[in-house]
Amino acid sequence: MVLKSEVQNPKFKVPIDAEKNFFLFLRAYIEIVLAECSNVTTQGMGFSIFFCGKRKWMVFNSLWGMDWVAYALKQFVKINFMSATHTGRAAEKAKILENPTDKYPKPPFDRQEQPWPGLAGKMIPRPDHGETSYRGSGRLAGRKALITGGDSGMGRAAAIAYAREGADVAINYYPTEEPDAREVIELIEKAGRKGIALPGDLRDASFCRQLVADAVAGLGGLDILVSNAGRQQSHASILDISDEQFDWTMKTNIYAPFWIIKAALPHLQPGSVIIGTTSEQAYDPSPDLYDYAQTKAATMSYVKSLAKQLGPKGIRVNGVAPGPIWTPLQTSGGATQEKIQKFGGQTPLGRPGQPAELAGIYVLLAENNGSYATGQVYGSSGGAGQP
Ligand code: NAD
Ligand code: MG
Repeated sequence: MVLKSEVQNPKFKVPIDAEKNFFLFLRAYIEIVLAECSNVTTQGMGFSIFFCGKRKWMVFNSLWGMDWVAYALKQFVKINFMSATHTGRAAEKAKILENPTDKYPKPPFDRQEQPWPGLAGKMIPRPDHGETSYRGSGRLAGRKALITGGDSGMGRAAAIAYAREGADVAINYYPTEEPDAREVIELIEKAGRKGIALPGDLRDASFCRQLVADAVAGLGGLDILVSNAGRQQSHASILDISDEQFDWTMKTNIYAPFWIIKAALPHLQPGSVIIGTTSEQAYDPSPDLYDYAQTKAATMSYVKSLAKQLGPKGIRVNGVAPGPIWTPLQTSGGATQEKIQKFGGQTPLGRPGQPAELAGIYVLLAENNGSYATGQVYGSSGGAGQP
């Protein structure tokens, strides 16, 4: 076999003739693998591959330099992966299929009350917002996003995903949530994007206007607005809901999006998006969420109304409707402790969702590829509660 050539692959310094022969050889190798042959020994080009049961071995001619061996090894791994995928054998190995019923923790959960608004960092178990799992692929390159409630829960999952997809991200949160928010800003910066922390109380109209102004100034514009922050408190009876509590829920869930969207609109160019977080509660309200559930119905309604209003301007408006998701909103008064212990167990998947499982929906609704989706509400509820 000829291993000599004047020209070399600059990356691997592989002699060209050898490289050409190697690919011919690989073709034969793929055919062998796809035919699922085993115990086959193949000789060629000074090296041999043989199969021993399900394990594959590659033997190199020791005369070859290390560069060439490294290159061959890389191809070997690539082909092995492809072939194994084809035969289905590596589905388990490469975790291509994940069973949604046992992917995440199931009830029973520990009782765990936190003062409002709660911290993700104090939940047991800690929610998954995609910190170690979300992989981006440039789907939001150069975009500029403001996410309310971006410190924890769905907002945090969206913030991590957006940054890893190439967007700069400003997050709003309640000032006591600084520990959660710090982690998010670090993750955004680790993704190589700009992360802007904008704490403040959304019940205050002038703060909401300032929030948008600060986000626009910090990001250098705005083209994704995720109105996600929410207030949910469980009350067994309407008689237990004070005027002040009712007003708190309405201010956070209905007034704040109104103030923020109004302030943001002059900055949103065609192609921009607004995403509201609604809930399965909009369609299937629980008896103990009298005030909250009606705000989620209102969110679904404003998504559809605004989509009609802003469609001709090229601005898309969509909603995400989660089911029971493991977030601090639930453990800081949003659900009773009895409900926390069984949380999500009633769904067909038998467990609560994790914020990370919704990140892809927020990305889809924001990216240019989702350009025909407007006025839609995307559910993620583990199998129940959607229209
Ligand atoms: P979460 O507690 O992680 O997020 C809610 C966020 O709202 C908080 O982090 C906080 O930053 C923000 N917020 C609330 N009041 C505020 C105020 N006055 N000022 C500033 N920020 C304020 O919980 P989550 O479940 O991720 O909630 C996000 C959205 O998802 C909410 O709109 C909620 O209604 C909705 N949702 C949640 C579930 C669920 O089961 N967790 C289900 C359906 C819908
Ligand atoms: Mg929070």
